[in-house]
Parts: sequence; structure tokens; C-alpha cells
Amino acid sequence: MRKSRYFGFPRPDKQTAPSPERPRFTLLFELGASAALLIVALIAINVWHLWQTYQSALAKSQTATMNLTQALSQHASDTFAQAEATLDELAQQIAALGSGAAQLPRLHQLFQQKTAGLKQISALSLFDATGQMIVTAAERLPAVNGYADRDYFIYHRDHPELTPRIGKVIRSRMTNALIVPISRRLNHPDGSFAGVLLESIMIDHFRSFYTRFMISDDSTLMMLLDNGTVLYRHPYNEKVIGTTIAGSPLYRDNIRQHSSGIVNSALGADPAQKLYSYTHLKQFPVIVTTGLSLDQTMADWRQDAFNHVVMTLIFIAMITVVCLVLMRQARARMRAEQQLIHAQQELRKLNRSLERLARSDGLTGLYNRRHFDLSLDNEFQRALRTQQVLGIILLDVDYFKQFNDLYGHVAGDNCLKRIGHTLKNLPLRHRDVVARYGGEEFIVLLPATDRDGTLAVARRIQQGIVALNIPHQGSPAGILTSSLGVFVGLPEAGQDTPSRLVVKADSALYQAKRQGRNQICQA
Ligand code: GH3
Ligand code: MG
Ligand code: MG
Repeated sequence: MRKSRYFGFPRPDKQTAPSPERPRFTLLFELGASAALLIVALIAINVWHLWQTYQSALAKSQTATMNLTQALSQHASDTFAQAEATLDELAQQIAALGSGAAQLPRLHQLFQQKTAGLKQISALSLFDATGQMIVTAAERLPAVNGYADRDYFIYHRDHPELTPRIGKVIRSRMTNALIVPISRRLNHPDGSFAGVLLESIMIDHFRSFYTRFMISDDSTLMMLLDNGTVLYRHPYNEKVIGTTIAGSPLYRDNIRQHSSGIVNSALGADPAQKLYSYTHLKQFPVIVTTGLSLDQTMADWRQDAFNHVVMTLIFIAMITVVCLVLMRQARARMRAEQQLIHAQQELRKLNRSLERLARSDGLTGLYNRRHFDLSLDNEFQRALRTQQVLGIILLDVDYFKQFNDLYGHVAGDNCLKRIGHTLKNLPLRHRDVVARYGGEEFIVLLPATDRDGTLAVARRIQQGIVALNIPHQGSPAGILTSSLGVFVGLPEAGQDTPSRLVVKADSALYQAKRQGRNQICQA
């Protein structure tokens, strides 16, 4: 408490040094959080973009496969409708003309006319009820005759329906080529079995159409009978023709259940994932399917996705590096700032102690004359402004030269310290200043203190020193005493100066000395 009163000179700026931990944490956190946010946003945007482009690529592939299926379906429909029409027309003409031996040359001519315009027809033949070919569009009948064992012949013989039937692919006995047989039963007027009319469509007819489509090797175009038997497959593979896909999940769960659709699936022995579209022909028990390899249809998307991912990763790496560099720089800067703050604090501390040293007296710890003079200047001006009286007490230790001579200089110093301690412990006000004026002289400045107050303080000081009861053989009193000169008054503007007030107190002190010492005199 007392210390703060005596060393009450203006403290260095009371600004609190910024806490280095908090801003450091906040800045680094903000940097890290911003980078993380940017990276998360980048990833989110890219995932969204990839998802969108995947959907759009898939939709395009679906459209492409549907279009292909429609084209195949149209082609198959046209081919079979043409064949059906030919068979119906010939059946009517045979019914009208009859199929007796006399009519055979006429029928041969008719058959030739029919096949002339239709390149897809491999053969057009008429079999009697025993399975013998009796008419054909070819130049002559085959040398080896007999078709009663053929699947289509047996079927029509045993089924009364007159509708054309598309059979599974067989090898022609006349041309040895693979053909799709389309056949129709013929009846006698009484309804009994009269024979079979057959139109053979060359597999090459489908082959030349299907090869027009540019598809990858692992994509497939197929034409099937309703029961799953393969009529044609592109890319062409003879071994597959005539086999069945009836056991595959694609057929079982999709083709058999719906008239048309799109499905993402693998088929039979082929493990490659494909985008299948299929449709059942409306008028015929035939199905066409297009299986586009997902690997191929999505290749562009995959490349685009790969590029995007790589670019994003590069971008993320760049952001991370920049962020790390910034964080490192920020950390270094903050470390430097911290060191600077620390150095400033040290400097401030040093300044404060220098200031204290510059204003304090080393021996007694009281203020020194320099501080007193500065305080007096201030209080002098204030007293002029406020018209308040000012009290000054100047104190000089009596016979101190003799004290030193008698007891030694060190004892003299101790003596001054004890007097200083006594002065320090005076109950004074905040603005009061007690200082060592020089040698064994002390001075007390009492702003806004009247004569009574100043004298009271002076008496307390005098008694305080007596109370120390320091033996002094060289003094008539036998103990150490002091003389005090007191000045109390209003400084006169234009006349007085601060030093003049001290001179006035000094004159009073001189008077106290002259009057016998150990007493107080007023100016
Ligand atoms: P008077 O009663 O007239 O004041 O007699 P005096 O002997 O006290 O006066 P004088 O001014 O002749 O002597 C002052 C002495 O105080 C001189 C010096 O030896 C002594 N002195 C001044 N400063 C110090 C100090 O810091 N330590 C010590 N031990 N003595 C000091
Ligand atoms: Mg003196
Ligand atoms: Mg003296």
C-alpha cells in the first residue's frame, strides 16, 4: 500500500498484453477449418458432378440400346410378316389350283416368281402328307427326298392350326446353309392333313443386317424364339445359334415376365455386366435383345470421372500444401509476435525499474530530489490554478557531522535509513511526497494542506525521530534530533517559483538551527 503511494508516479500504459494463445489457436483453427471446408465442398461438388454425369451417360446408353432393339424388332417383324404373307398367299393359290401332278409345273412357276424378288428366301417348298418335297422354287427337286423327320413337318402333321410357325434354326438339306424355317400346314378340303408349305429364311439375311451396327466385341444383339432358343446372335457365333437362354435370370426374371424392358445384368456364361434391352415382337413369338457392354458404354464417363478425380486430388493436394505453408508461416509469425510481446514486456518492466531508480534514493528508498522537484512543479501549478495552499517541510538532522565522526559513516547511513523508514510510515495522503533532499536533509510536500495540518505533520516527524532514540554523544540532547523549517501558503502568481518556496522553508529551517535545533520554525 505504502509503496504504491510513494512510488505513485504515472505507471506505464496499463494495456494488457494480448494473450498469445487465443489468437494463435483461432487463426490456425480458422485456416485449417477453411481449408477443410474447401476440400469437403470440392469433394461434394465432384461427387455430385460424377453422379449427374453417370446418370446422364446411363440414360444415353439406355436410349441407345432401346433404339437398337427397336431397329432389330422392326427388321424381324418385316421379315416374318413378309414370309407369312407369302405363305398365306401360296396356300390360297394351292387351295385354288390343287396340288395334283398336273398342277406342279404351274406351282413351280409360282414359287419361282415369289422367290425372285425376295433375296432373303433360301427356299420355298411344298411337301405332301408323307414328307416328300413335291414343289420347290429351286430348279429341280433334291435327289435325296424325304422331310418327314423335320421338326416343322412333325409339328404341322400333329397340330391342326393353319397359322404359320417359326421354327428353330436348322441346316438346309438343299443348300447346307443355316436357315430359319417358317412353315404352314395345308389341309385337304375335308380338313385332313395335306402337307406343309415351307419358306426358309437365310441366317445371312439377319447377319448382313446385324453387322451394320457398330458394337463392341463384348456387346451382343440377339433374336430369340419366345421359349428362349437363339435364332441369331451378333457378333456371329454359330455355336450359340440353337442354344437356349431360358435358364438365365435375364430370361427368367425379365424377358419372360414383361413385353419389353431394360435391365442391367450378366447373362449365362458371359459374366460381363451389360445393359440389356429387350422387346417381344407383337405378331410373332420372337424376342429381340440388345446387350451393350457397360464397360464400353460408360467408357467415356469413366475417363471423364477419372480426369475429374485426378484434377480434384491435385487441387486438394495444392490446397493442403498452401494451407500447410500458410499455417507454418502464421505459426512462425505468431512465434515472432510472441517473442516481440515478451521483449516488450521485459522492456516495460526494465523501464519501470529504471524510472523507479531514476526517481528513488538508493539509501533510504524514498523519492529523490529529482522526483520531488518534478512533483513540486506540478503541485505549484495546481496550487496556482486551484488557489489551494501548499505545505513544505524541510528537515535537517542535527549535528550529523559529529554523529559520523563519533560513530562512523556506516552508522550514519543506518541512521539515515531509520529516519527514512520513519518518514515512509507517516500516515499521509495520496498526493503527499516525502523525499530525501540531499545528505541528511529530507523534504515533505503537502499539497492542499493548511498551516495546522502541515505543522501537525512536522511535529509528528520531529517526535518520530526523537522516538527512534538513537544515542548521539555529540548532541546536547544526547540522542539524535532534527530541525524542521515549514512553509505554508499560496504561491503568488508571477512572484513565486517552486524553488523560492523551498528557499522559504530553508530560511525557516535555518532559523530553527539558530534557535538551538530540535525544533520547528515557520516561514
Ligand atoms: P547542523 O546541526 O548544523 O546541521 O550540523 P551538521 O553537522 O549536521 O551539519 P553539516 O552540514 O556541517 O554536516 C552534514 C554532514 O552530514 C556532513 C556529512 O558528513 C554528513 N552526511 C551527508 N550525507 C551523508 C550520508 O549519506 N551518509 C553519512 N553517513 N553522512 C552524510
Ligand atoms: Mg545539512
Ligand atoms: Mg545537519
